[in-house]
Amino acid sequence: MSKSATKTAAAFRTERVTKVYGSGPSAVHALRGVDLELPSGELVVLLGASGSGKSTLLNILGGVDQASDGTVHFFDDDLTAMSDAQLTRYRRRHVGFVFQFYNLMPSLTARENVELVTEIADDPLDPSEALALVGLQERIDHFPAQLSGGEQQRVAIARAIAKRPTVLFCDEPIGALDSATGRAVLRVLQDVNRNLQTTVLIVTHAAATAAMADRVVHFSDGRIREIVVNEAKKSAEEIEW
Ligand code: ADP
Ligand code: MG
Repeated sequence: MSKSATKTAAAFRTERVTKVYGSGPSAVHALRGVDLELPSGELVVLLGASGSGKSTLLNILGGVDQASDGTVHFFDDDLTAMSDAQLTRYRRRHVGFVFQFYNLMPSLTARENVELVTEIADDPLDPSEALALVGLQERIDHFPAQLSGGEQQRVAIARAIAKRPTVLFCDEPIGALDSATGRAVLRVLQDVNRNLQTTVLIVTHAAATAAMADRVVHFSDGRIREIVVNEAKKSAEEIEW
C-alpha cells in the first residue's frame, strides 16, 4: 500500500498481527492476521460478534497485551519491539481505557476517582475540569453508589481523559446501559473526540453506533472483514438501538 506525503499521520498501523492464546490442540487463534491503519484524530468503531477478537486487538493497541506475531506501530514507535518499561511508559502517557463495568473505586468520590490518575500524570486536566467535560460538575463529591450507571460511566471517562491521552480505548462502553443513557455516554465520547482531538476507538455490539464513526471496522473470526469510511457522520443523539 503506497502512502502519499499529505496523508494524515497514522496513529496506529498494524501488519499481519496474530494472537494465539495457549498452545497445541487447545490453542485459540484470536487474531489471524490483522492489517489496519488508523489515522490520528478519528472516532473509530469496531464491530463484530462476540469472540471475534475485538478486545484482543484493543488490548494489543493499548499496550496491555502483546501480539504473537506481526508489528504494531503507534506513530513512528514499534510497540512490538518495546520493553515492558517502554510499554508502561507508552500506556501512562498516551492511553486511556474505558470498560463496560466502569471499574470505579466505590469508597472514593467522583473527584477522588479522577485524582487517582491526575496525581501520577505529567500534564493532567484538573479533576473538576475533567468531570465538567462529561457533564458531572454537580456530582463531583458523590460516591459511585450515589450515581446512575450512565453517570458512573461518565466518571470513568473523566478519569480516562484526565491525563489527556492520545488515544481513548472503549471496550463495550454502553454494554450495560439502556439506550437513552448509552446515547449520553456516546455523546461524551463524541465530544472528547471533537474537542480534545483525542483518537477514540469504541468496541461495541450496538451496530447503530457505526453511524457516528469516521471509520467502521467489521471484524469476524480474528480478521477484518470490511472497513467502511463514513462520508457523513450522525451525532450521538440520532443513534437508535
Ligand atoms: P471479542 O472481544 O470480540 O468478544 P476477544 O478478543 O475477547 O473477542 O476474544 C477472542 C478469542 O480469544 C475468543 O475465542 C476468546 O475466548 C479468546 N481469548 C480471549 N482472551 C483470552 C485469554 N486470556 N486466554 C485464552 N483465550 C482468550
Ligand atoms: Mg470483547
